[in-house]
Amino acid sequence: MTILGVDLGTTNSACGVWRNEKAELIPNALGDFLTPSVVYIDPDNQVHVGKVAQERSITEPQATASVFKRYMGTHKSLTLRGKDYTAVELSAFILSRLKEDAEKFLGETVTQAVISVPAYFNDTQRKATKQAGEMAGLTVERLVNEPTAAAIAYGLHEKPEHAQFMVLDLGGGTFDVSIMEYFSGVLEVHASSGDNFLGGEDFLEVLVNHYLEAASLNRKQLSHSELQKIRSKLEQVKRQFNTVESVTIEPILHSQTDKVTVSREQFTKLSEHLLHRIQQPIETTLRDANLRPSDLDDVILVGGATRMQSLRSAVAKMFRRLPMANIDPDLVVAMGAAIQAGLKARDQALDDVVLTDVCPYTLGTGVLNEADTAGLQGDLFSPILERNSVVPASRVASYFTVYDKQQELEFTIYQGESRLVKNNISLGSITVKVPKSKKGHEGAEVRFSYDMNGLLEVDIKVLSTGETYYKMIQNAPGELSEKELAASREKLSKLKFHPREEETNQLLIARAERLFESRLSEQRQMIQSSLKWFEGVLEKQNARDISNAQDEFCVFLDDLEQDRLF
Ligand code: AMP
Repeated sequence: MTILGVDLGTTNSACGVWRNEKAELIPNALGDFLTPSVVYIDPDNQVHVGKVAQERSITEPQATASVFKRYMGTHKSLTLRGKDYTAVELSAFILSRLKEDAEKFLGETVTQAVISVPAYFNDTQRKATKQAGEMAGLTVERLVNEPTAAAIAYGLHEKPEHAQFMVLDLGGGTFDVSIMEYFSGVLEVHASSGDNFLGGEDFLEVLVNHYLEAASLNRKQLSHSELQKIRSKLEQVKRQFNTVESVTIEPILHSQTDKVTVSREQFTKLSEHLLHRIQQPIETTLRDANLRPSDLDDVILVGGATRMQSLRSAVAKMFRRLPMANIDPDLVVAMGAAIQAGLKARDQALDDVVLTDVCPYTLGTGVLNEADTAGLQGDLFSPILERNSVVPASRVASYFTVYDKQQELEFTIYQGESRLVKNNISLGSITVKVPKSKKGHEGAEVRFSYDMNGLLEVDIKVLSTGETYYKMIQNAPGELSEKELAASREKLSKLKFHPREEETNQLLIARAERLFESRLSEQRQMIQSSLKWFEGVLEKQNARDISNAQDEFCVFLDDLEQDRLF
């Protein structure tokens, strides 16, 4: 019986199996190993997962869901086409798709899985992951911690003796650091720390700012789609710096005439402050574990953003050795999960324990977003207790009035990792009274205390009067009851997946529709007529014609996207 190893990621997911004495990754219907963790429900109520859904997230955001892993183990639901879905249900869609891909690839039914979870996931979040598996028709034989899976992929469990190493995971928006210890068949995740607001996106932002300045463009005068175009071009440039010293960027917008050249050295210099921020959690983690960099046997890199040369050099400098990075950092966790699945099938699965109990979410309060004059973004999230803090933990922060004669301060308490409160989960609120005074003169001290049982206590003290307020919040009430699970199963059973074989066509159509929305008249007409032609070919159902048309349509869309047609 084959057990599927799954990396159920925030942005991308991947899976693999142990076959012929090695871990083998499984391609999806498009031939990719990575499937974006995005779900789209089409107007016929059919479910799409992956790249098609990702394209639709631009043109039909109200019918797509992404980054829902952040809500695992909570009751928050996302609304798609008027229906609510929990993170468990959305994850079940991803897992169903991966299961189908695996079955197609292996030519057999797959009913068992090992799924990876972040080391900081608590019991509720782990249970939710198992429930998602079960909803997708997979018995979850075991969960494996993500840093453990990465370590297994590098064969560190095969070391004959005791070994200690660090796993650095830099994704799009978060950074996680774990120290692992291997001893007689047990891998322990010791200390973990990180930065919830640091990732590859921040490096891109640095490059965007530099480019706008060098090209004399004013961000405020650019439309959303122009900025998007610049961003996606610079994302490519950021990746090019991994192999080349300098990149000359052709004009990106029609209004531009000059090229801009940026060197890798400039980029590294501009991102120095970010590279410095990476150092802090590494130091904290080492200190917590009472270790020096030289005590570590290896450093492992995970997450797409660890491909950056500047990051690799900074890490190499810190540890005076090269980090391990020869396995694709986006696939290393899936590889490890597949190996663990293979070990499990032979009853040799590695024991994997997390020793520190950490807070699995960031907890904080909302504050006024002064830059948001149009009211589009809403309040900003001000973290008080950061995710990954070792519990029990207690932290304090102060807040002040924002206008003259303000009489009340309202504290809404949120859990989540987004900088905007509207994307986080509201846990409750407290309003405190302050004496009338000038803006910024009155304020309150807010203390958050979080314990092992997920209990959050909020103590607020008004600075001038000393008056105190208290609220207790039972956090993470997220476990689904049996009744809720049955209702979920019933709901999901009514939905059908869009046929896997049509995914390539669906993706081309979704891409064309996205480009149609972002372009103007002349180009729109071209897209419209190409789309009609392509749909005409599909209707005739001749396999060879369809295959040729796919190639041709793809070249057309590539050219259009790269502005090569004009
Ligand atoms: P993840 O969440 O692990 O998929 O990480 C995505 C982040 O990795 C994004 O910020 C990407 O810009 C970044 N990334 C992916 N590939 C590369 C690459 N080849 N070079 C630099 N950054 C990359």
